[in-house]
Order: sequence, then C-alpha cells, then structure tokens
Amino acid sequence: MDDRKFRDAMGKFATGVTVITTEVDGKEHGMTANAFMSASLHPKLVVISIGENASMLEKIRKSQKFAVNVLSAKQQELSMVFAGQMKEKKAVNFARLEDLPVIEGAIAQVTCNVVSEYVEGDHTLFIGSVTNIQLEDEEPLLFFKGQYRFLSMQEVFK
Ligand code: FAD
Repeated sequence: MDDRKFRDAMGKFATGVTVITTEVDGKEHGMTANAFMSASLHPKLVVISIGENASMLEKIRKSQKFAVNVLSAKQQELSMVFAGQMKEKKAVNFARLEDLPVIEGAIAQVTCNVVSEYVEGDHTLFIGSVTNIQLEDEEPLLFFKGQYRFLSMQEVFK
C-alpha cells in the first residue's frame, strides 16, 4: 500500500498535540507527539508511540519515565519547537512535576513511569503508569490533515 494514502488516512483522525518530556543526567528533552492515548482507568495507564529515529526513544529507555504535556491553543510555537520545525533553536523554561520537566501552560501535565515497552514496526510503544496530573482550563491545540487547528465554539454549535 502507498505510504501517502496511509498518512492521509491517519491524518483524518483529528487529535490534540502533546509534548513528551523526560530528563537524562539532568538534561531536559522534549518531543512533539500526537500518538498518545489513555489505555486503562484501573490502573491508570497511557500509551505513547515513539519513532525509531527519534532521539527521545533512547532517552525514555534510560530515564524510564516521561511526562505528557497536552498543549493549549496558545502553544503552537512550542509544538513547532519540539518537532524541530523552527529554523532557530529556542530556550525553553520547564516547570517540574514528580521530578520531571513539564511544559508550563499545558492544559494537562501527566507524569508517568514506564511499565512496559513494545517495539512494533518502526515505532516503540511505551505504556506509562500515571504518577501525577496537573490541569489548566484552556482551549486545546488541534492537529488535523497535517495542519494545526483550533476549536471554534461557533462551529461546534452550528
Ligand atoms: P530532537 O530532534 O533532538 O528534538 C526535537 C526538537 O526539540 C529539536 O528542535 C530540539 O532543539 C528541541 N528540543 C528538545 N529538547 C529541548 C530543550 N530542552 N529545550 C529546547 N528545545 C528542545 N514523532 C513520534 O515519534 N511520535 C509521534 O507521536 C509524533 N507526533 C507528532 C505530531 C505532530 C503534530 C508533529 C508536528 C510531529 C510529530 N512527531 C512524532 C515527530 C517528532 O516531533 C519529530 O520527529 C521530532 O523532531 C523528533 O524529536 P527527537 O526526539 O528526535 O528530538
């Protein structure tokens, strides 16, 4: 099957945007990801999927923990920073939660310990056991058909 068709099909699934963060040897690292979902309520588990070429992969293998930061509508630039889409490097100040770096202003910060790891094709799925959650009441940043989008309440109620 054609790669483009597969990408187009997956792009029809509208998602939020997260930045996965972790820390190794006192050095913070972030990566933009939308392959995130809730996996279990009892116990509280989430799943993330990291590409084999992402430097985040080895970092999570080493740290055995990560945070999922769900971005707000005001944080598109941060999404681009952590996706390597900006021409210039940008210094980011992280907040802390459960001894992990987290993104200030994210609408949800979810810290996790890795409980298992599954290599599937060219991605690795990490199952994380949730250790803490912090929430903000803001609108989310969205991603659909390869582009950033924003919720419009007018459109929702039309
Ligand atoms: P790098 O390429 O080393 O880092 C990524 C960028 O973050 C670099 O520009 C780096 O300078 C910056 N950065 C990292 N740490 C810091 C720091 N401490 N301070 C300042 N800047 C920092 N890939 C997946 O594997 N899974 C997904 O689910 C996924 N979803 C995506 C969703 C969207 C909407 C987008 C745009 C991309 C997605 N990607 C996903 C692709 C992924 O974000 C990029 O391939 C990314 O560049 C890979 O990051 P890396 O870990 O290799 O780290």
